Amino acid sequence: MSAEDKNVFLADRFLMQTGQGKEPDMITQDLRFGLEAGKKRLQRKGVALREAYDFADDAVRGSVALTPEDSPRPFHACRAYRETRRIREFSRGGKRMALWESPATFHAQIVDHRGREDFAVSCPACGSPSLASGLEKGCAFCGTRFSVNGLYPRIASCFFVEDVIWRPGFDQRQKKRYKIIAGVLFPAMSLLSLVMRGFGPDYPVWLQILGHLLTGAFAAAILTFAVYMIGAYLMIGKLFVLAGSVLPMLGTGSSRKRLGERMRRSDPDFSVELFEGKLVSLLGAVLYSDERENLSFYQGRDDLSCFDDLVCFDYRGGFKLREMTVREGRIRVLVSVFADNVYAGEKIRRKKERILVRMERDAGVRTDAGFSFHAVRCPSCGASFNAVYERNCPYCGSAYEAARGDWVITMIRKE
Ligand SMILES: [Zn+2]
Ligand SMILES: [Zn+2]
Repeated sequence: MSAEDKNVFLADRFLMQTGQGKEPDMITQDLRFGLEAGKKRLQRKGVALREAYDFADDAVRGSVALTPEDSPRPFHACRAYRETRRIREFSRGGKRMALWESPATFHAQIVDHRGREDFAVSCPACGSPSLASGLEKGCAFCGTRFSVNGLYPRIASCFFVEDVIWRPGFDQRQKKRYKIIAGVLFPAMSLLSLVMRGFGPDYPVWLQILGHLLTGAFAAAILTFAVYMIGAYLMIGKLFVLAGSVLPMLGTGSSRKRLGERMRRSDPDFSVELFEGKLVSLLGAVLYSDERENLSFYQGRDDLSCFDDLVCFDYRGGFKLREMTVREGRIRVLVSVFADNVYAGEKIRRKKERILVRMERDAGVRTDAGFSFHAVRCPSCGASFNAVYERNCPYCGSAYEAARGDWVITMIRKE
């Protein structure tokens, strides 16, 4: 498999697993935590979400490198894309609340680190053989949770971009549609001509029938063309609506570049894509959470009650760097995150929103490009849990401080 095929394969795998209601596996620890938080929020709201995707053979797909091929940096990132139809069905208590179907292109940002693929290990807790990736979700035999860092390639973040049309098979569908329209209009218009003008005494009947048929054909052609033009205008209208919603996102590319350049002055191994994945996943986890004080990476005191009904924090693939300061040994990054959010109150509502987020970390911290994994056990009761993100043991409640020098969120505000 070529590198490009491998990237598309990872993106498709993510969509297939999501479509089957399975947990995607080739994703970073942060993304997994964010997705789990989203599932829990749906459950608490009593909302079931079914997702499905179209994998047409002639759909556009491929990947672009985000890191120059010859870059000496340890993390290499790319963006794999796949044209698809995204179907989402929300229901509550077996009753459908919304069914959305729209053409879209799926993008997966994949971070790779050569020589850091999966390998065999023994679970340090029970000795069972496993793959290092298998321990990411907890040992299959004894359930011990591990903090696994540094297995690649992994999807760090993903998003959808809406398309105007579902292109595969579009031409055939159009031809078929207008053939049907013309096929119905021709006899209808011929009949109308006959009813309106009837037969006169001057010409033979066969010539008059021919005349009505010709009139019918002429009218049908003009009307079919008119319908075609209306369809084309509607499509252009949709294009403008989509363009309007994308316009505020201009400049997000240069934001990524500026952030990378500034961060690498003090942290040469900094990866924008890993940062972005962390930003989006952790932001989602905070918004979805009902126990924000238990999240070790959230130190804000914001009133987030406006997100109480949020069930889908749908990242749109762009953030804008508002401000970056280094003061008193802390790096503070202020960004606007673009999202297409879904709220489930009485009804399902969808809103394009911008969320202002401040991320902080100690200025001296360097990105750890190494591989590490360790079992996480509560020192008080011995239970194993996801201590990378949680402040208290979920079993006995005692505080657990995992060694962290990592990014924390200190402010969230709807813009
Ligand atoms: Zn085990
Ligand atoms: Zn405990």
